[in-house]
Amino acid sequence: MPASGLSEQPFVRRRIALVGATGTIGVNCLDVASHLPDRVTVVGISGHGNIDRLVEQTLAHRPEWVAVTDPARAAEARDRLPEGTRLLVGEDALARAIGASDIDMVVCAIVGAAGLNSAWAALEAGKDIALANKETLVVAGSLVTDLAQRRGARLIPVDSEHSALFQLLREPGALGHVERLVLTGSGGPFRGKTREQLGNVTPEEALNHPTWRMGPKISIDSATLMNKALEVIEARWLFDLGPDRLDVIIHPESIVHSFVEFVDGSVVAQASPPDMRLPIQYALTFPDRVPGPTLRMPWRAMKAWNFEQPDREAFPALDLGFEVAGRGGTAGAVLNAANEVAVARFLAGSLSFLDISRLVSDILNGHHHDARPDLATLTRVDRQSRQEAEKWRSTTTMGQA
Ligand code: NAD
Ligand code: MG
Repeated sequence: MPASGLSEQPFVRRRIALVGATGTIGVNCLDVASHLPDRVTVVGISGHGNIDRLVEQTLAHRPEWVAVTDPARAAEARDRLPEGTRLLVGEDALARAIGASDIDMVVCAIVGAAGLNSAWAALEAGKDIALANKETLVVAGSLVTDLAQRRGARLIPVDSEHSALFQLLREPGALGHVERLVLTGSGGPFRGKTREQLGNVTPEEALNHPTWRMGPKISIDSATLMNKALEVIEARWLFDLGPDRLDVIIHPESIVHSFVEFVDGSVVAQASPPDMRLPIQYALTFPDRVPGPTLRMPWRAMKAWNFEQPDREAFPALDLGFEVAGRGGTAGAVLNAANEVAVARFLAGSLSFLDISRLVSDILNGHHHDARPDLATLTRVDRQSRQEAEKWRSTTTMGQA
């Protein structure tokens, strides 16, 4: 054993199911897996709408099964899959395949509350999950973490900030010495804009993230800072710390992915270029670290790392995250459902940018809080909040701050 006391790590080889393979995280995950053939075998993949990409991925990676979760689209894949690849249709078939004994880990890369079912099925079957789908914890954090514990399954975060925190807290007992966790955020495409200036921003401008290339929903969430709000709630459940022990700081370069402040005042950080393949790879190979495809720090070109306080007036969504992290119960499901609808309406042109957080705040304030909901209650609350969010009408004229 070296003098540091750190021992050699065991060699980990994993057979994975990747749900949401056709999205940004899914594509990155397959890239990582193709670089680590002795570590990762992709047994199955799922997709929902983009059947062309799902078929391409199947031809390139030759999984044993492919699941199309939207039954209406399954026929498009049927005759195009290579011999030896089974086609599974619908969520129930996917849930059974995820729970099969030949799967070690499920990578949860579906977007939105739609990702909860597969994450739940994986945990029920006692599978470790590599969790990109933060909405799973936002909607049902208490039930999901409880289920993981009961089934002895591990929840390994893929979100870059939470992966950073997970990496920083690896040492046994480290969580017990934490004073505060500080999540970083780039500030999104509208960092520095005033509330007035945000009145007329377009979906195209909002989708244009300065440091990350991501799916449309999380890109809009990053522009409103709702993404950071969701991440505060995600951290609350992952690390079991109240909102008074969580903080957010803006870091435009997206190189420091989070900080841990310990009770003695020492602060540690995890840093790496903005490349989601690193947190994905870390989750796939944990507890090992291996050489992989991710970008390296540009040491010779490196200049300043900047930090600033978030503008809570221009981006009121952030405070909603702290509020919901404190309330728990049904609040997360309401916030998430309202936000999913608001983002879709903004992208469709029927809501202004500033109305996204107004809508979410109104639906949240109007809901009947249940402090200890079961899964059926959360499903009902999700559906009702979506209906209310569809009906919501702005009292300000388009573009008004
Ligand atoms: P994306 O929009 O690019 O991909 C979404 C995936 O979900 C696709 O495979 C799609 O087929 C699938 N999907 C959509 N609706 C579905 C439904 N109803 N049922 C089943 N599958 C469905 O999204 P993304 O950017 O890859 O993000 C995926 C998740 O990872 C999100 O929860 C996001 O917040 C999180 N995340 C993403 C990034 C990133 O860099 N993209 C970073 C951190 C966390
Ligand atoms: Mg993140």
